[in-house]
Amino acid sequence: MAFSDLTGQKGIKTRLASAVSERQSGTFMFTGPVGSGRHVFAEEFAKTLMCEEPGKDGACGKCPCCKYFEAGTTPDIVRVYKPADSKNIKVSYIKDSVVPEAVLKPQFSKTKVFILDLDYLGTESQNALLKSLEEPPAHVVFILLSSNRDQVLDTVISRATEIKIEPYTREEIVSIVRKNVSDCPDQTLQIAADNCGGIPGKAIAIAKQGEDIDLKRKVAELFLELPDASYCKVLYDDAEFMAEHKADAVAVASDILLLIDDLMRLKGMPGYKKISYTDFRTKLEKLAGSPNVDNIRLGKCAGAVKDFLRALDVNANFDAASSAMLLKIHEELKK
Ligand SMILES: [Zn+2]
Repeated sequence: MAFSDLTGQKGIKTRLASAVSERQSGTFMFTGPVGSGRHVFAEEFAKTLMCEEPGKDGACGKCPCCKYFEAGTTPDIVRVYKPADSKNIKVSYIKDSVVPEAVLKPQFSKTKVFILDLDYLGTESQNALLKSLEEPPAHVVFILLSSNRDQVLDTVISRATEIKIEPYTREEIVSIVRKNVSDCPDQTLQIAADNCGGIPGKAIAIAKQGEDIDLKRKVAELFLELPDASYCKVLYDDAEFMAEHKADAVAVASDILLLIDDLMRLKGMPGYKKISYTDFRTKLEKLAGSPNVDNIRLGKCAGAVKDFLRALDVNANFDAASSAMLLKIHEELKK
């Protein structure tokens, strides 16, 4: 990656490239709302600072330092983000790890880079860091990130070069969502761009919700084809679909339960209005009208989905559990 691979923020890219070429050291602070791309720019800036032959467009991507960086194995970058097990970064971590580490020379690159998320550094921790920011060794660059400038000590702000991330244009947002959300339908894309306030992270989150709508549709199609599907299709294509959506297995199972519920309602009360899958009403009504689909069989299908959910809870073999569920539904509903 180079700066040109990042969408938008032209001014920032120029500024960062010149900071590198002038070999500026010290402290930079990226400010902007959550989802604005602070981390992405910080990472690319760090890579450029460490690169052996940086150009106008940032890191060369070819030198050993770039290779180490891309492989995630460079020892010369320290990232201080929110710890998984607590709300904030501990003061002791700043005092005992970050401050002493800043004195040590980098091992491979000419510059050692620290990326610190100020959103998780309280007043005490910021104060502990201040001494390092005041007299930074020549080989060190601190990159601070903040989504809330009001929580940053004035003494920290005064020692940093602030890089403010501006809202992105609609066109830039569309391009970022396209890069990050594959097969995003046009309609979802427009909704995301219109409702994100110029913040790409927000647009991506909205577009991904749209992906779920897409997943719902795919699950419905798979389910409705199950009664007529061949064993091969169930065991290969459908099982593969399940494996691909392993991370969303609970959502997929819930969707199947909703579809079974729709069938039960339509079976008991033909023409029942309030079904979940209104887009598939015609197909659902047709299946519900089939003589071999009755409530006992539908109950067994629901039982198979619940067995699958239980198997997920105990970490049973995923492929075996999902195939068993699909086959059971196929068996019960086939003509
Ligand atoms: Zn390089």
